[in-house]
Amino acid sequence: MAKIFCVANQKGGVGKTTTTVNLAAGLAKVGQRVLVVDLDPQGNATMGSGVDKRALQLSVYDVLLESASIAEAKQRNDKVGYDVLGANRELAGAEVELVELERREARLKAALTAAHADYDFVLIDCPPSLSMLTLNGLCSAHGVIVPMQCEYFALEGLSDLVNTIKQVHANLNPDLQIIGLLRVMFDPRITLQQQVSEQLKGHFGDKVFDTVIPRNVRLAEAPSYGLPGVVFDPASKGAQAFVEFAREMVQRIKSMR
Ligand code: ADP
Ligand code: MG
Repeated sequence: MAKIFCVANQKGGVGKTTTTVNLAAGLAKVGQRVLVVDLDPQGNATMGSGVDKRALQLSVYDVLLESASIAEAKQRNDKVGYDVLGANRELAGAEVELVELERREARLKAALTAAHADYDFVLIDCPPSLSMLTLNGLCSAHGVIVPMQCEYFALEGLSDLVNTIKQVHANLNPDLQIIGLLRVMFDPRITLQQQVSEQLKGHFGDKVFDTVIPRNVRLAEAPSYGLPGVVFDPASKGAQAFVEFAREMVQRIKSMR
C-alpha cells in the first residue's frame, strides 16, 4: 500500500516543486517505487521530471474528470526512475469543471485507490493556492509535507495552511496530518534564518524534519535540463540533502504504520 503525501504551501516560490521531484528521485534511489502527481497547471514538476508537458496525451486532468486511469495516464523518463502523472495548462480548466461535479474533492483519491499496490510513495505537488485542486490533494493524502524558507513571515504564513489542514482532517479526511515542516533554501550564515529555524523547532517540535535543504545553485539549474537535482548532479550538496531527506521519510513512515 502506497503512502501518499501532499507537498503544500499556499505561497509560490517556496520550493514545493523542487522538494517533490528531488524527494521522488531520492526515494527512487533508495529503492522505493514512486509516483509524482503534478496538480499545478504550470506543469513544473512534469517538466522537472523529464516529461514534456506539451506532448501529454493524457494527464491528471483526464484522471480528475474520470476519463482515464492513473495506469493509463502515467509517464516515465527512465533517467529519473519514477512515474509522473503530468499536468499542463489544461488543468486550470478542471478547477471550474470540477465545481459542477459530484464528489468533486475526492476524484484524485478514488483514482489513487486503484494505483495503491503499484507504489510505495505517492508525492503530490500542489499549486500555490488553497483551491479545489489542492483540496483534491489533501483529501487523498495521509500527510502533508510543508517546505518553507526560514524568513521573518514564515510562521505567520503557515496559519492559513494549518487551518485548512485541520478543516480537511475534521470534515473530509480523518487520516490527514502534517508529517513535517522541511526547512529549504537554508543558509546557515544568515542569523535570521537560524533564529527562525529555532522558533520553528520551539513551536512545532519534532514536526520539523531533521534534514535541512541548503540553498544550492545545482538544484535551481537542474529543471532547465529536465531533471531533478538528485539526478542532474548527485554529488552536489543539495542532491545529497534530498537523498538524506528520502531516508528520513522512509524512517518516518515506518513509525506511521
Ligand atoms: P514552488 O513550487 O513552491 O513555486 P519551486 O520549487 O519552483 O517553488 O522553487 C522556486 C525557485 O527556487 C525555483 O527557481 C527553484 O529552482 C529555486 N529553488 C528551490 N529550492 C532551492 C534550493 N534549495 N536552492 C536553490 N534554489 C532553489
Ligand atoms: Mg511549483
